[in-house]
Amino acid sequence: MTKSIPRTSVKAHIAQAPGGYPESEKIPAQELFGRDVFSLKLMRDRLPKSVFTRLLDTIDNDSPISPADADVIASAMKDWATERGATHFTHWFQPLTGVTAEKHDAFLTPAPDGEIINEFSGKLLIKGEPDASSFPSGGIRSTFEARGYTAWDPTSPVFLMKSGGHLTLYVPSIFISHTGEALDAKTPLLRSQEAVSKQALRVLRFFGDDQATRVRANVGPEQEYFLVDRRLYSLRPDLILSGRTVFGAPAPKGQELEDHYFGAIAPRNLAFMDAVDHRLWALGIPARTRHNEVAPAQFELAPMYEHVNLGVDHNMLVLKVLRETAAEFGLACLLHEKPFAGVNGSGKHNNWSLSDSLGRNLTDPGPTPWTNSQFMVFLAAVLRATHKYSIPLRIGVVGAGNDHRLGANEAPPAILSVFLGDQLTDVIKAFIDGTATTSWQGGAMATGVSALAPLARDITDRNRTSPFAFTGNKFEFRAVGSSQSIAPANTALNAAVACALDDICAELEKAHKSGLDPVKSAHQVLPKFFNEHLPVVFNGNNYDPEWEIEAQKRGLWNLKDTVSALSHYGDKDVMEVFTRFGILSERELHSRQEILLEKYIKSCLVETKLVKTLGRSSILPVALDSLKKAADVLNSVKNAGKEGGPAQTNFDRIYKHASDLSAGLDLLDEKTAQVEKIEDVLKLAEGVRDVLLPQLLVIREAVDSLELLVDDNRWPLPKYSELLWQ
Ligand code: ADP
Ligand code: MG
Repeated sequence: MTKSIPRTSVKAHIAQAPGGYPESEKIPAQELFGRDVFSLKLMRDRLPKSVFTRLLDTIDNDSPISPADADVIASAMKDWATERGATHFTHWFQPLTGVTAEKHDAFLTPAPDGEIINEFSGKLLIKGEPDASSFPSGGIRSTFEARGYTAWDPTSPVFLMKSGGHLTLYVPSIFISHTGEALDAKTPLLRSQEAVSKQALRVLRFFGDDQATRVRANVGPEQEYFLVDRRLYSLRPDLILSGRTVFGAPAPKGQELEDHYFGAIAPRNLAFMDAVDHRLWALGIPARTRHNEVAPAQFELAPMYEHVNLGVDHNMLVLKVLRETAAEFGLACLLHEKPFAGVNGSGKHNNWSLSDSLGRNLTDPGPTPWTNSQFMVFLAAVLRATHKYSIPLRIGVVGAGNDHRLGANEAPPAILSVFLGDQLTDVIKAFIDGTATTSWQGGAMATGVSALAPLARDITDRNRTSPFAFTGNKFEFRAVGSSQSIAPANTALNAAVACALDDICAELEKAHKSGLDPVKSAHQVLPKFFNEHLPVVFNGNNYDPEWEIEAQKRGLWNLKDTVSALSHYGDKDVMEVFTRFGILSERELHSRQEILLEKYIKSCLVETKLVKTLGRSSILPVALDSLKKAADVLNSVKNAGKEGGPAQTNFDRIYKHASDLSAGLDLLDEKTAQVEKIEDVLKLAEGVRDVLLPQLLVIREAVDSLELLVDDNRWPLPKYSELLWQ
């Protein structure tokens, strides 16, 4: 009798699992929302009026906080946190590892009289000094000067977070070196927000507005993820260590029946989602939408949009809450971009817009965009940003995981194009044709564009294939990976749009100086920009193989993978997008290029090692065992005086794939040794991409073939059908 292997006993357990999963906290949403945030309301209640007013000024206008005020604010935070049961605080920051970092300190401080008291000083609130020598700095910080500082970012509120039953006070922070260089994802994001605000205000002023005081980038990230049973997950070292399955034959049923998308949500998953939503609401995160996604076991969570600074922090918290809550429900939340071959991967649709301090959406065209010169300027800027400055945007979404989506037959392609819809494209063409200019009379378009019907409100890109779609009053950048921080993508987007606005404003201001009014200036200047950047507009099917050829003719970049994209990071015109407004210096950019390349190399090497260890110690022994059994059967058949027949065929097949696996692993050893000799980091990354990754696929083919041949009771790894369908 075959001995039961963990996989089969786990399956039995799942089948017998009792119903009833932890109940989420059922406090009415409106009461729960923001409960764990030290909100403006709490600050108003708990701070002296003068301190509160000055803090508001800091939040709105970045004015510095005095040490005395910082002490008062810190003390109020500590009182609130300890009343709620917190014992520790942490500066919470986003180093270049791509995940968040925290180091907890107790409020406990010895008092002069020998007693122990709870204390939180302004100094501790404002600045932390973690022993930060192990965070990636790409050469900016050699270890002898290892100091890195975390600094409180007052524009993102502090909050309480419960984990393992303990409440901790989290202080959102930036992370910089002692020379002031950015070591994190947040510092350049904040700088990019300033840059785009300044350039956008310049446009508003040009068109005569003197009310708005600042412009904000807003972001609403739609987050995709997979849920699998934790017991099965725990039997897949590849999922645990690399986030994706390095082996796995397709399940007999994948996503072809399209019965998962928007399907009824299974009770355990719904209970999980409900707990997630409640926890997010307590943190002041406006989680709103939840549904089944296209692939089996794939889901989406979308919050309402927020100011980009908060949106970035909140998305990091969403990832954390998803992961931790899943564990409590006996689930594992997979955030990798491509956990399973052959079914859809996961991304983030990064909905982005600009709005001013009066709440006006600058990326909203209104029903008649041809009369809205200001919107047309912002539209031209976005087209210029995605066309002329597309490489920074591509770099904003690089990563070994995302390479399985972008440029790999999966949504969306690596070619950056913009979906505008036919109507808005026609408006642009009217500008280019000059019909718009010549017919302009006293603030309204008289003729020439009569064919243009008022813009439909809902021009959502229904085919969902565009990497950058205009969806009514916002732009949706869909190339961001599900596991990634949205900070780099939004930093690049803000930076590129700031540069484009700057370029366009310079021309507008020149035209204005020569005597044209603002609207006429726009009609003189914009056609040139629209003409130059129309090639980036593509309303068709981005999956069509023809598009790749067409895009090449149009001169659009097709940087299919992380390494090709990063090889351009040091290009003068790429760096200029970040250096023009001081968002990142050349030194900071070079360090980021190195860190991102190293991260790519390391994660690919982890997968390489996984393939080797799983291949040799889990799969090959099972394959050889099966071969022995097949040989026994074959011998018995022959001893019975028959030809081998099916026993021969079975033996031959197992023999072939086991041989391929064994030889493939040996070759992988050789290739790894050869690649690891390369010293230059870019060349090493290329070696990993060109030499190792293809060899991993060769081995996978042998393993996946074995999975379909070997006695099901012996296969050690949970199969796709078990992971994806329950
Ligand atoms: P769609 O279904 O067209 O993608 P939704 O209205 O469902 O759009 O919104 C998807 C995401 O876009 C949500 O996170 C939403 O808050 C966000 N969003 C809506 N309006 C804006 C805006 N003006 N700026 C940024 N994000 C927005
Ligand atoms: Mg969307």
